[in-house]
Amino acid sequence: MSLQTSIRTVDRWIDAHQKDLVDLTCRLVNIDTTVPPGRNYPRVAQLIVGELKLLGITPSVSYIPEATIRRKADPELGLNGPRPNVTASLKGAGEGPKILLNGHMDVVPAQPTGWSSDPFKATTKNGKIYGRGSADMKGSDAAIIYSLKALVETGVHFNGSITPTFTTDEEVGGYTGVNHFIDKHVITKDIDYCLSPDTNIEAIDVASLGDSEFLITVHGKSAHSGRGWTGINAIEHASSLIEKLKKLGVEVGRRRSKIPAEPVFGNKWMRPGLYVTMVKGGIKGNIIPDSCDILVDRRFIPEENAAQVERELVKTVREFSRDTELKTSMKLVTGYTPMKTSPNHPLVKVVRRVAKRVLGQDVPPRGSQGSTDVAQVSSLGIPVVIIGASRSDSNIHGVDEHVRITDLVSVTKIFAHSYLELLNGHVH
Ligand SMILES: [Zn+2]
Repeated sequence: MSLQTSIRTVDRWIDAHQKDLVDLTCRLVNIDTTVPPGRNYPRVAQLIVGELKLLGITPSVSYIPEATIRRKADPELGLNGPRPNVTASLKGAGEGPKILLNGHMDVVPAQPTGWSSDPFKATTKNGKIYGRGSADMKGSDAAIIYSLKALVETGVHFNGSITPTFTTDEEVGGYTGVNHFIDKHVITKDIDYCLSPDTNIEAIDVASLGDSEFLITVHGKSAHSGRGWTGINAIEHASSLIEKLKKLGVEVGRRRSKIPAEPVFGNKWMRPGLYVTMVKGGIKGNIIPDSCDILVDRRFIPEENAAQVERELVKTVREFSRDTELKTSMKLVTGYTPMKTSPNHPLVKVVRRVAKRVLGQDVPPRGSQGSTDVAQVSSLGIPVVIIGASRSDSNIHGVDEHVRITDLVSVTKIFAHSYLELLNGHVH
């Protein structure tokens, strides 16, 4: 069978199984896997294991030891419960490249108020599936599974191997299933290509921002507010630190990467940022507060690195401590490394060509203004490309999150075609 025939064959199979793809997406959405804390992971893992078994392969489930979570994920993240991570290996006819696939099983919380229907009961309307995680990224998880089914069920030829992984805690970071699989040597340097659908279909992500979240605590001294001058008001002092952080944020926000960014208003190149995103202090109205917590979210471009970013922030906090003679403490709560794959890498070229064929339009490589756990894979030197089923109007992390069924079908095809092109010796 020629490559062209194989492609036509899997396309026909995928079109004929659209209803099953939708059904699996709905079943995944219906399991509430909100993180924090990480609900129902064993249930969703079991569902995925069942689907992978239908491919005639033997999936394995690897639990992150509780002690590891306690050691590596800050308690601030609020993680709780078992953390199963699923993997399997689909082998082709002969020797060939290794492809790694990744999808995360968790979703961000959803407050039911504001939603047109229950966020954890998937509903289909006008060609769209609504529900928390439909777009980020359970629809894309289902697409991974159906792209593999298309290969197995049609019996098309391919070499090498494909390793799907379904992992925990992408939405909070700290110590994700991807970290676990790297530590367990499921994800190793000898992998040739990594594909993830954890993004939208309008571009190919070849880069992403690094992210470091720091918790800064300003320490004061409590006092009865009637004798307020005898205390040291941590909140009032923290406000002047916030002013300094805002200034640093302006300076950081002027920097640009050399990598073109996703089309966000007013932005051509990937852009870093530093933002105060949470403040917590005080316990009662008549007590001078003795501490105030400031959370700083620092997004950084691939040209910066985590150590550099931390040093820069430490400098500002130290200056504040010195000027005010106040004690401060600072810790890294969670973070992601930035991702970078050369836009000229053969993997990028293949996926771009394939996506153009499936979608009928060019999807250019670009840098995402988000951060992702698969960046960890890219830091092993493995080329990573991300293209998934959501769109900029899918409202991910918002109310009435949805995914278009046509996009689910397209992503399934883009993945299946990519395997065929990459695993048949047709890479140019
Ligand atoms: Zn996601």
